[in-house]
Amino acid sequence: MNAPARPLRARIHLDALIHNYRHAKRLAPAARALAVVKANGYGHGAVAVARALADEADGFAVACVDEAMELRESGIRHPILLLEGVFAPHEIALVDRAGLTTVIHNREQLDWILAARPARRLDCWIKLDSGMHRVGLAPDDFAAAHAALTAAPQIGELVAMSHFARADEPEHPYTERQIAIFGQALGGLRIPRSLANSAAILAWPQSHGEWTRPGIMIYGVSPLPGAHPQATALRPTMTLESALISIRDLAPGEPVGYGGRFVCERPTRVGVAAVGYADGYPRHARDGTPVAVNGQRTRIIGRVSMDMITLDLTGIADAHIGAPVELWGATIPANEVAQASDTIAYQLFTGIGRRVPLIHEGV
Ligand SMILES: *Cc1c(COP(=O)(O)O)cnc(C)c1O
Repeated sequence: MNAPARPLRARIHLDALIHNYRHAKRLAPAARALAVVKANGYGHGAVAVARALADEADGFAVACVDEAMELRESGIRHPILLLEGVFAPHEIALVDRAGLTTVIHNREQLDWILAARPARRLDCWIKLDSGMHRVGLAPDDFAAAHAALTAAPQIGELVAMSHFARADEPEHPYTERQIAIFGQALGGLRIPRSLANSAAILAWPQSHGEWTRPGIMIYGVSPLPGAHPQATALRPTMTLESALISIRDLAPGEPVGYGGRFVCERPTRVGVAAVGYADGYPRHARDGTPVAVNGQRTRIIGRVSMDMITLDLTGIADAHIGAPVELWGATIPANEVAQASDTIAYQLFTGIGRRVPLIHEGV
């Protein structure tokens, strides 16, 4: 079979990924760090990401057993944490056999684990609801859960964890409140602690504890507003790129694309790039969303279609069929595209379509 000729691809820069993981470790030097690779490594390919980080990472975190098994089957032997724990008691047998670490975030999971008779001791992370109010044991239930697990012969090492709702707002007092509630619930217990996602690693050093959980930052994106000094070292790990497949000159007053959302105000050279919402490019991208042709910034004009987008080529030197188009990467930060589309870079990355080849480079 011939190689696919459609020019769209997502190039994954594994050297940048390693650099970003090291940066997360440098910011929290006393902590170990679980690289979060849920949702296929935020769209980057979980197996390729885990293999690239294999010599560095203290462990990995995923959402569910299926994601963990994919890593185990590709030879990853590190600790792997199930961030949502098990969804049914029968999954505990898999957790046991594959040597996974599970989160306990509700009483049902606690009962299932206490009733299990695994072949080896199960390591567990007890999740506390310190204010996110989504999952987690109530602070008042923490001490009893901890005592029951400590007394159970089938349980191995324990870690106490919680998750922040507003760590990406460096001025907001809510994160301090969550840290205080977590600390009070644990009382004087000597148990390793894990609170920090990327935003907290960058902006809340008092939350670092014994284990951090960097996600979006290892994929080169800062979750904080503006240019945070700790985030400037992050390097983009994904370049979504395609090419021009059509060029035409339109007169003032001519509309472009579905619904005629954009109408030319002056003579306009319009280019079409092979990428659309079925590939994960956000359909809500507004006119003016940045894009680069031949490395020069320009803008989207007209609605995003399933397989194509339309661009303003006015003033772009040497625009020709086949010229490279960067949707996001080193020239166009994913955060800028996300902002222009009322979403976040997390959704752009995890939404990369199945028909987009991932090209892993850099190690
Ligand atoms: C996804 C996730 C993370 C990583 O969050 P980022 O904002 O991507 O750093 C950390 N902890 C938990 C519990 C998560 O679900």
